[in-house]
This record gives sequence, structure tokens and C-alpha cells, in this order.
Amino acid sequence: MRRKKSPPGFNIHHRKPRRFGGQTTEENISVVRRVEHKAWNILFDNLPAHDVVRLFREYWEIFGNESRVTHEIRQIGLSVLGEMENFQKYKDLLSEAELNRIKRTLSTERSKLRKSRAWGVLFSGLSLEQILVKINGVWIDPDYKLVAEVTQATNVKLEARF
Ligand SMILES: [Zn+2]
Repeated sequence: MRRKKSPPGFNIHHRKPRRFGGQTTEENISVVRRVEHKAWNILFDNLPAHDVVRLFREYWEIFGNESRVTHEIRQIGLSVLGEMENFQKYKDLLSEAELNRIKRTLSTERSKLRKSRAWGVLFSGLSLEQILVKINGVWIDPDYKLVAEVTQATNVKLEARF
């Protein structure tokens, strides 16, 4: 088989990750926008489908509500800025332990911020149904299908099925 090349700004994505035996075959690869590929890796880190499902469920709890996400990003952004300010202002006065606490908080918050943004890049403006179509059609191991069972407006059960 000839090696598939992606056009500029695009990447080849292995739906079943190579490190879990995913092959470079027509049905296992997708051509994806590079920014989206990066976002996918920030959120799902090249993990196998059952981990994607577990993580998706966690993210959905946080990011499932668009206006809440906007609020969340704002809050996290403010808290990162606040901690940065404290850090700059007081770094000569603070104890080692206190500095380390701030650094840990900063890194946790930055990671949350990165994930919120990544979620936005991939799924902003899409309904849950559209998100699942996208994940199933482009991103996850083609042997799996992420399905949602909506029992109430706010109660969404997500699982992966063969
Ligand atoms: Zn990939």
C-alpha cells in the first residue's frame, strides 16, 4: 500500500492508535484538520476506545452545557491570572511549600483550560448527536460506536458498543 500523505494543515489520524495495533489502512485512518487533531490528543491522548468513552463521559459532565463551559473557561482563566499575579508579586516572600502549591494549582488549572479550549475546537456549537456522529465517523476505533441514551434532558448515559 502507498503511504498516504495529508494536505497542508491536515494530519493522518489513526482511529485505533498504532500503539494498540491500529494499522495504516483505509478504514483505520482519517484525514483531519491539524488543530482538531491536536485538540483530540489533548482530550483523549491516543487512548483506546473504552478510555475515550470514560473520558468523554467526564468531559460531557463539564462541557455538555455550552454556557456553563464559557463561564467555566472564564473562571479558570481568571483563577490562572490570579495565581500568576500572586506568584509574580510574592514569589520572593513565599515559602518553598507555598510556591509549590501555587505551581501545582497553576498547572492543574492550565490543563483544565487547555481541555476546555480543545473541547471548543472539536465540538463547539454541535449537539450531542452531532458530536457522536463526528466521533464515530472520524475519531474512534471503527470497531466501536459511542452511543448515548438520553433518559431525561439532563441525564445522558454514554457507552461504547461493538
Ligand atoms: Zn491521531
